[in-house]
Amino acid sequence: MKLGAIEAGGTKFVCGIGNEHGEITDRISFPTTTPEETMGQVIQYFKEKDVEAIGIGSFGPVDLNKSSSTYGYITTTPKPYWNQYPVLGELQKHVNVPIGFDTDVNAAALGEVEWGAARGLSSCVYVTIGTGIGAGAIVEGKLLHGLLHPEMGHALIKRHPEDPFEGKCPYHHDCLEGMAAGPAIEMRWGKKGHELEQNDKVWEIEAYYLAQAVTNFIYILSPEKIILGGGVMKQKQLFPLIRNNVAQMLNGYVQKRELAEAIDDYIVPPGLGDNAGLSGALVLAKRELQQ
Ligand code: ADP
Ligand code: ZN
Repeated sequence: MKLGAIEAGGTKFVCGIGNEHGEITDRISFPTTTPEETMGQVIQYFKEKDVEAIGIGSFGPVDLNKSSSTYGYITTTPKPYWNQYPVLGELQKHVNVPIGFDTDVNAAALGEVEWGAARGLSSCVYVTIGTGIGAGAIVEGKLLHGLLHPEMGHALIKRHPEDPFEGKCPYHHDCLEGMAAGPAIEMRWGKKGHELEQNDKVWEIEAYYLAQAVTNFIYILSPEKIILGGGVMKQKQLFPLIRNNVAQMLNGYVQKRELAEAIDDYIVPPGLGDNAGLSGALVLAKRELQQ
C-alpha cells in the first residue's frame, strides 16, 4: 500500500509517504504559518504522490466526533489563524482518498503500539513534553476519545516546595504543561532546556512534576507501558529521575513487577524515536482503508 501521513504540529507540519509495515520512504516538513500557506504546501505535496489513503495526527484541540458538523476541525486553539480551521475538510477537497484523523499524541500512541515500544500490548500512554504537553492513550486496544479527547497535559499537580514559578498555561497557570513544558523551563530558569543540562535542580524539579502526572496516569488508566517523548525528553537523565519519583509516589501500593524491578522497561522513550507521530499517521491511513 502507498500511504500518506501528516503530523500536523504547532511548529511544523511533517508529511511523509510510507506503507502498511511502517516503512517511511519520503518525508518533508513545512513550517506552520497560516492555514492557506501551510495547507497549500501540504496539498501540493500529496497531489503528486498518488497515495491510497492519508492519516493526519493533529495538534488540538480537535473535533474527532464523526457525526459532528465540525468533525476534522482544529477547534479552540490559541494559535493565531488556526482557530476553528477544517484541516481534514480542506485536504479532502483537494485529495480525494480516505483520510483518517486523530490527535498528534493519539497517533503517536498508535504508532508505538503497532511498531514501537508498546508493540504487542493492548494499552499504553504516550506523553510528549515539548512546546506543550499532550498525551494519547490506547485502552483495551482502542484509541481513547471519550467526550472530546484526553487532555492529560493539563493535569493538576502539586507544586515542588522549592519552586516559586507561577506557571505558564494561559488557562490554568500551574498545571502540568504550565510548569513542565519546554517554555516553562525556559521562563523559570532564563535559559533554554538544552543549555541547562548541567543544572541538576532543573531536572529534579522537572522529574517531580512529570512523575506526578505519570503516577496519576497509572492510577487512572492502568497502562501496560508509558512512553515519554518530545524535545524536553532529549534530556535522558530525566528517565531514571522520573522512574525513581514514580516508584516513591506509588509507595508500593500497586504491586506489579513493571512498577518495581522492571520499571526501566516500563517508563521508556519512544521505540520509533522521532518517527512515532508520522508512523502513527500511517496506521490511521491504513485503518481508513480497512473500514
Ligand atoms: P514541538 O513540541 O513544537 O513539536 P519539540 O518536541 O521539539 O517540538 O519541543 C520543543 C521544546 O523542547 C522547546 O521548548 C525546546 O526548548 C525543548 N527542547 C528541545 N530540545 C531540547 C533538549 N535537548 N533539552 C531540553 N529541552 C529541549
Ligand atoms: Zn493548563
